[in-house]
Amino acid sequence: MKKIVTYFKDIIVGLVNLILGMSVTIKYFFKKTNTQQYPEEKLPLPDRSRSLIKLIYDQEKEEFNCVACMMCQKACPNNCIKLEGARMPDGKRKMINFKLDFSTCIFCGYCVEACGFDALTFIPEDYENSVYQRGSLLHDEHALKWVRPTVASNPPRELNQSTQVI
Ligand code: SF4
Ligand code: SF4
Repeated sequence: MKKIVTYFKDIIVGLVNLILGMSVTIKYFFKKTNTQQYPEEKLPLPDRSRSLIKLIYDQEKEEFNCVACMMCQKACPNNCIKLEGARMPDGKRKMINFKLDFSTCIFCGYCVEACGFDALTFIPEDYENSVYQRGSLLHDEHALKWVRPTVASNPPRELNQSTQVI
């Protein structure tokens, strides 16, 4: 008798669990999905995302903001940054070459934080950086050059209504 009771009890517990499981499935089946068709659709990343690092170029002065103070090079835990500076005839120091090896960069952001001259920045949009050869990840000052867009040409990014930034 006890065996029969246990048998039917197990069937009822199984049915209850099945209904609970299916209710969750049905709930999500009719919900709007947040799947994105990457790469056709791209999720705007938050402004504080860490992707490619760039050297800020001042278009009005026609020079990089970098003054070759070496603070970023010293701050880098992986020795990714190599740069040289020189003193100009006007007495100011200027960066003459700058190399950043993204193959060893861990995107810790220490270099950006260490820079007191607004010369380095992360570019959140620049995250598709796959290459075929490791050497292509060594960027010089020409590849790293970035001009800050003016406010008018850079309207605030709007989220696609079908997507959410988590
Ligand atoms: S993000 Fe970190 S690892 Fe990469 S270059 Fe800057 S300090 Fe070095
Ligand atoms: S910390 Fe900034 S100003 Fe100094 S060398 Fe690095 S990028 Fe240039």
